[in-house]
Amino acid sequence: MNHSGKDGTGFGVYVHWPFCMAKCPYCDFNSHVRHHAVDQPRFAAAFAREIAEMRERTGHRTVSSIFLGGGTPSLMQPETVASVLNEIAANWHVPDNIEITLEANPTSVEAERFRGYHAAGVNRVSLGVQALNDRDLRRLGRMHSVEEALAAIKLARDIFPRLSFDLIYARPEQTVEAWREELVKAISYAADHLSLYQLTIEEGTPFYNLWKAGKLITPDGDDAAALYADTQETTARHGLPAYEISNHAAPGAESQHNLVYWRYGEYVGVGPGAHGRFVENGTRTVTITERHPETWIEKVETVGHGIVEEEFLTHEQEGDEFLLMGLRLVEGIDLARYERLTGHSVRESRVISLAEQGLVEYIGNSRIRTTPQGAIVLNAVIAELAA
Ligand code: SF4
Repeated sequence: MNHSGKDGTGFGVYVHWPFCMAKCPYCDFNSHVRHHAVDQPRFAAAFAREIAEMRERTGHRTVSSIFLGGGTPSLMQPETVASVLNEIAANWHVPDNIEITLEANPTSVEAERFRGYHAAGVNRVSLGVQALNDRDLRRLGRMHSVEEALAAIKLARDIFPRLSFDLIYARPEQTVEAWREELVKAISYAADHLSLYQLTIEEGTPFYNLWKAGKLITPDGDDAAALYADTQETTARHGLPAYEISNHAAPGAESQHNLVYWRYGEYVGVGPGAHGRFVENGTRTVTITERHPETWIEKVETVGHGIVEEEFLTHEQEGDEFLLMGLRLVEGIDLARYERLTGHSVRESRVISLAEQGLVEYIGNSRIRTTPQGAIVLNAVIAELAA
């Protein structure tokens, strides 16, 4: 019997490492800077306790992917990574060769540590390169240079079987031509996966304050749409087509972990500020842990977990989330699964109307997906289908 996610959509384990060397001015992730050494054995012990708690909640499962994200997980000592991976394997069934990804920043890369991660079981690295242009790296507040990023890519390619890296585009003053040139260069260094995110200005960040004061102007509206369209064309032309709004891969090299999210599979989240979504006693449960690292660790040491919020989703909410995640994918969604989740079908008249507007299309009998035009107004498409 397959105990991994319902409908064969996988069961992932996400582990959050909440520390960074510096805070990037656009970042609203749960990342913290500490000017003293982090007590990693203490964190490893807390991860172990929270993993055991999650195992109690989920029961026996077969893990389909593991992702160490952050923050900057490449600040973890290899022993800490090995300890976390061993605890996961001690609590659930972890088949050989499942995807185990670690996020790394070019500034925190060193060969010895990379070899240690690989020995611990990490087989895929996702590097935060962000730009191949030193001026923009400085503007983004990044602490590495293009040269260091390229050295990190080379090292990662030598050590790990799989590699992805991230770039941010729609940066201040960036033209379509300049971005295309940079993207083609990036593709020449890429293995078989790239994540390409448009710069978004998040409230509460230093970039937000600059943007509000009119001191930071990023491409928006038609300019942002033109950058997005060019990104899709350029990556497709070079063999790395989009399989999700911001993610591009050679066929077969898609991130299995991210597919768990987008296919609306199940996952547990451990570590500060981690989210989980898994089916427990027939109900999809959302868990959110305490964001602040030291408060999280104290809570785990006291009660065995850092969960501060829980929600039990109704079938209707599950249907909404399924649309929200699945319509980001080029493979689209299975309308029959929507019906299994919610107990009712999506109204056909709405699908037909969206199809007539060129925003969604049928692929086969019961699958639909958003068209490139639909992807640009994704939220409106989802709202219409979920209504
Ligand atoms: S390295 Fe990543 S997580 Fe850390 S502050 Fe920068 S953007 Fe945020």
